[in-house]
Amino acid sequence: MMSTEAQTVQSENATAHLPTLADELLRRTGRNPAKCYQCGKCSAGCPMAAETDHRPHDVLRLAGLDRREQLLASESLWLCLGCETCTARCPNDCDPASVIDALKAMAVEQLPDALPKPFSAFHHAFLDQIKAHGRISELGMMVSYKLRSGALFADATSGPGMFQRGKLHLKPPKIEGVDEVRAIFKACEEDGQ
Ligand code: SF4
Ligand code: SF4
Repeated sequence: MMSTEAQTVQSENATAHLPTLADELLRRTGRNPAKCYQCGKCSAGCPMAAETDHRPHDVLRLAGLDRREQLLASESLWLCLGCETCTARCPNDCDPASVIDALKAMAVEQLPDALPKPFSAFHHAFLDQIKAHGRISELGMMVSYKLRSGALFADATSGPGMFQRGKLHLKPPKIEGVDEVRAIFKACEEDGQ
């Protein structure tokens, strides 16, 4: 197994050709992390702040310091619920929730080997569902996650009870604008995001 030091060197080599993190986040989100003045209002409202190593204001600070490897390998990104409370509370329009979303996408693209398999599997399973149906199908999400993670039989005993309580539906839900959603995916793929 590769040592942590060797993994860090490999990660740095893999990302050495890239622009600064601040430049890349500015391109992807329209926000410059250097604008954050570290007031901490975002983290004060974050429901996951106590569970993470890097709270939203820490993420902005590390992004401004160009700590790409540290941030992209951080489990904290994957504990974010996407509730956008941080973004709503920011008095400076720094939009931490979008920055965290962009960092997740960059982690998948740029340092896939540093990403724990369950996180990667969940991320791709979620996107599979949105791309296919425009929203989440719980059953489809579960099957896609299990196939991608290899955890085929984990929690298998929960399935029948969920069916009985009407939590799992065989027919996936579909929104009317699913073609527009797919067009957004296509445009992002063409834009390299
Ligand atoms: S609320 Fe906005 S300005 Fe304040 S620390 Fe968070 S991101 Fe930075
Ligand atoms: S979007 Fe993520 S980082 Fe922001 S408040 Fe919600 S859980 Fe916290």
